[in-house]
Amino acid sequence: MSNPLENISCIERGFHNVSQIISSLKQKGHGDNGVTLLAISKKVPVEMMRHLWSLGQKDFGENQVQEAMTKYHQLHDLKDIIWHFVGKLQSNKTRQISECFSWVHSIDRLKIAERLNEQRPDGLDPLNVCIQVNISDEQAKNGIQSDDVFSMSESIISLNNLHLRGLMVVPKNSDDKEEQRNTFKSMYGLFTMMQERYPYETIDTLSMGMSKDYIIAIEEGATMVRVGTALFGSR
Ligand SMILES: *Cc1c(COP(=O)(O)O)cnc(C)c1O
Repeated sequence: MSNPLENISCIERGFHNVSQIISSLKQKGHGDNGVTLLAISKKVPVEMMRHLWSLGQKDFGENQVQEAMTKYHQLHDLKDIIWHFVGKLQSNKTRQISECFSWVHSIDRLKIAERLNEQRPDGLDPLNVCIQVNISDEQAKNGIQSDDVFSMSESIISLNNLHLRGLMVVPKNSDDKEEQRNTFKSMYGLFTMMQERYPYETIDTLSMGMSKDYIIAIEEGATMVRVGTALFGSR
């Protein structure tokens, strides 16, 4: 990321490509309920984020609290930007996120959900949250087991300052496309069970797919894809 002009044309190309791919998938009947592109901007300078915003991108995701808060303040003049937190949250860092962000995708402990709920300021809309599921990677420390999704959902639904929106997954890093597809299929199955179980809740978000597998994720029912490298170039 040395030459700013090169970076800018790289972002324009990336944004154009990813947007084209998403709309052509829609034309083929995938993602009929809408697919939101979430730009994952970790380690990306705010000038590049500002440029992507000027092209029409509104949803931005970060995975580290300190970096997220610095950028939040630096981009505070962009009133319609929507901030998502997608990383691991420690309990002593929940307050800033709950005060400033609109979404948290990575809920995997009730204690974190409860703190976010308590710390959500009056006058703000409820914080949108997704439960992070560990469906493919027994070694990973993030995400809950699929068996625990419903008990966690019920606890979150009872918290007034949180708005449960769905599920999120970060699959095991794999180059095996069929394995990724099967993980996404299982997630979609769990997501539709959740929608049937809570018909009065707005369960509309299945957050899955990153730069190298977002196409497969959309084919398998993702409603939100989290894309970094394919938009901004490699970090
Ligand atoms: C970094 C990250 C992404 C984006 O990854 P790319 O491969 O750069 O698209 C998506 N989700 C989470 C949780 C991340 O940490």
